[in-house]
Amino acid sequence: MKTTKRTARRAITKRRPVRFHILTIFPDIFDSYLGESLFKRAQKDGLLSVMVHNIRDYTDDRHAKVDDRPFGGGPGMVLKVQPIWATTAAIKRIAQRRTKKVRTRTILFSPRGKKLDAAAARRLAKYDELILICGRYEGVDERVAEYIADEEMSIGDYVLSGGELPALVLMEAVSRQLPGFLGKEESLEEINGSFPTYTRPEIFAPAKSKKWKVPGVLLSGNHKKIEEWRTEHGAPVRE
Ligand code: SAM
Repeated sequence: MKTTKRTARRAITKRRPVRFHILTIFPDIFDSYLGESLFKRAQKDGLLSVMVHNIRDYTDDRHAKVDDRPFGGGPGMVLKVQPIWATTAAIKRIAQRRTKKVRTRTILFSPRGKKLDAAAARRLAKYDELILICGRYEGVDERVAEYIADEEMSIGDYVLSGGELPALVLMEAVSRQLPGFLGKEESLEEINGSFPTYTRPEIFAPAKSKKWKVPGVLLSGNHKKIEEWRTEHGAPVRE
């Protein structure tokens, strides 16, 4: 077989593509982000695949109801356990039909969950199938956390309207750990740390009296000095 850039990128992984399953009531949210740039290329190259499941398709309710009022009262609606259970069960059944040895992890997004960091992304990158459950409204029936999810994960100490952005954040953090996802391995800031970067022009003058200059050391061509400057001004990515 002729080795193209694409097959070469795929070959260096020597592993099954990671399959992300997203459970949501707003499946269209994902189209534009996943259809561009690195995700688009990674899916084309077979490094990963993404399946977006509308949990409304799995409801046993004849009105396809995915939410209901909270027991005990209070404002807002809660996502029901049944469609989420039925969706995850169907995903696991199909995955096991492909191979018995599939490593699956189910994650429920919650502001109360464990904080996503680089170490968690590395750990999750070892699974074959990641099932990501996106909450909405007042949240998700707690039995999903108790009986279906392996872990609850938060992307920060703030409350968002849904788990869809957290799912994209997690998918990107995990995908960056997959060999071949980034064009150049050295872009992996999780290893090199994060430091300030500049590009042309060397001096930018937004007004006559203002001159925004690039630090001289970066123009010096002295690689040792540049490395020292980057170490001094950079920050390691939190483990
Ligand atoms: N009252 C809910 C609670 O305390 O969990 C908050 C519900 S929030 C408006 C709706 C959904 O957005 C959550 O169920 C969760 O899936 C997601 N979400 C919101 N903030 C999040 C965060 N910081 N990290 C991860 N998921 C979050």
